[in-house]
Amino acid sequence: MDMARATGVKDTRFLNPKSLRNKKLISEVDFWRAFAATAPKNTLCLMPYQEKGVWVTPLVFYIDFEYLTGGGYLVLSSSSEVRYHTWSRCNHTWLQSVVGKHRRRYHCDKRGCGAEFFLDS
Ligand SMILES: [Zn+2]
Repeated sequence: MDMARATGVKDTRFLNPKSLRNKKLISEVDFWRAFAATAPKNTLCLMPYQEKGVWVTPLVFYIDFEYLTGGGYLVLSSSSEVRYHTWSRCNHTWLQSVVGKHRRRYHCDKRGCGAEFFLDS
């Protein structure tokens, strides 16, 4: 899974940050906490655009980790504020099953997603 596939566009040079799927606004604290824990695999600095007359510079981060499998972060920065979001190619619905004695498997129930991860207990 790469950035282009996760964002749903063939060429990320033409990515519109508004088209990133399942965006959720998060706090600055949550952004940095998650950023430090997940180590993004890829970062894109996109073309600045105007929003109500104010220039905004978008930064898109891609990670492939647990609940954000196939997604990441979006930071929108302008002269007056910085907004942080998560995004994901799928709004996962996690199902849990027990695998072996001390292992749990979490997999997304949504058709065509295929995201999964394992936790030892
Ligand atoms: Zn999913």
